[in-house]
Amino acid sequence: MARIQTPQRIRGTQDIFGEDQRRFAAVLETFDRVRKLYCFQRLEIPIFEATGVFARSMGETSDVVSKEMYTFEDRGGDSITLRPEFTAGIARAYISEGWQQFAPLKVATSGPVFRYERPQKGRYRQFHQIDAEILGAPEPAADVELLVLADQLLKELGIAEGVTLQLNTLGDAATRDAWRTALVAHFEAHKGELSEDSLARLEKNPLRILDSKDPRDRPIADSAPDIDAYLTDEAAAFFKAVTDGLDAAGVAWTRNARLVRGLDYYRHTAFEFVTDRLGAQGTVLAGGRYDGLIGSLGGPETAGVGWAAGVERLAMMLAEPKADAPDVVVIPVGERALAAAPTLLRDLRTYSISADCAFRGNTKRRMTLASKSGASFALIVGDDELDRNEVVVKTLATGDQQAVPMAQLDRFMRTLIFAAKLGADAEQIHNATSEGFSIVGNALPPEAE
Ligand code: ATP
Ligand code: MG
Repeated sequence: MARIQTPQRIRGTQDIFGEDQRRFAAVLETFDRVRKLYCFQRLEIPIFEATGVFARSMGETSDVVSKEMYTFEDRGGDSITLRPEFTAGIARAYISEGWQQFAPLKVATSGPVFRYERPQKGRYRQFHQIDAEILGAPEPAADVELLVLADQLLKELGIAEGVTLQLNTLGDAATRDAWRTALVAHFEAHKGELSEDSLARLEKNPLRILDSKDPRDRPIADSAPDIDAYLTDEAAAFFKAVTDGLDAAGVAWTRNARLVRGLDYYRHTAFEFVTDRLGAQGTVLAGGRYDGLIGSLGGPETAGVGWAAGVERLAMMLAEPKADAPDVVVIPVGERALAAAPTLLRDLRTYSISADCAFRGNTKRRMTLASKSGASFALIVGDDELDRNEVVVKTLATGDQQAVPMAQLDRFMRTLIFAAKLGADAEQIHNATSEGFSIVGNALPPEAE
């Protein structure tokens, strides 16, 4: 008989579980909480788009478009691409859904993105990003809002230590053209010393030579003229408004005059939050202003600014989050209790008490399982308890046990769980269950009996 070949995970994809999943979830939960504090609306967009959406918005010469896209022909013969990032799809949605009416529009999203890269630590073919954008706001206040959001996110994730916000300006169109001309003249003068890659960039994308990692390019890139001498008054005022806003909000930043974006529609602010903790993969969050993008896609001229961050890279930097522990574990003892367990479990969960059930092995083993689960309490139900319409509540940390009438269980448990969540010690929990609860218990309205 032929052996069935076991299925394999596709190279560069991930099955995220256990501790990795907890880190991953912590990033997404924190992002969702913080984006609400800044009043960014959640948005969902398709995982695939017409290939042209990405090719036009990210530029044919970018690494992503020229060699990393997952592009295929669908059954209708259309060229489709799995999204390698969010900004292009959001810009496309803004145009096709007519979202100008909502401008300025603050949106946030997250999910899988796809790039055909060589997989290695922290680098996948299906990875995940969080993304925040403000569309239709040409004001520097929008840049500030996004940067302060990013800063608070990193702080709330507990990973701001060792992370620096690097900031640059690419000026307005006039600034950029003048600077570009000066850069090209400088690079032309050193043509003989540039790497092959940078020679190609000189034709298509000269700004990108500035952030080349090739050691042959570095001295020439480092001695290239800064943008500052070419900034128009408007562009200088814009940059100052951004840095003043950051200072007012207490966000630390440093100027990196070599931080650029290659495409023509990038304007003004460019930024990266960079860490010294992840080796070569040091950028944890990156973005900038792209005022020309929506217009270049055929939409109305619309300002835009935004950022994206890799969820896996943020997750790698987190301290390990605690595993979810249930509030209680129900231990049914005997056939009748087992039959009654679904009702009890449903009731607990309806009262927002998280509950698991230990139904395998002898009672001792079930108690061990309950302790291992990290639950604070075990609810033991046997024939005697069922006859008396009671449950035995055991505080696992102390071994304290108390029989509680079924009808009062929800109040009792909520008092207990609340005390435990407030960090009550064993004695306080003991008091809450005896005196504390009996007072509440005595005051129970008759219908609770
Ligand atoms: P890099 O220089 O590392 O390739 P990039 O410039 O391609 O990064 P962006 O397009 O700015 O990255 O994407 C934003 C973030 O997404 C990055 O800062 C990084 O955290 C994450 N990221 C990019 N590519 C990958 C990948 N293949 N696997 C995991 N995370 C990634
Ligand atoms: Mg890349």
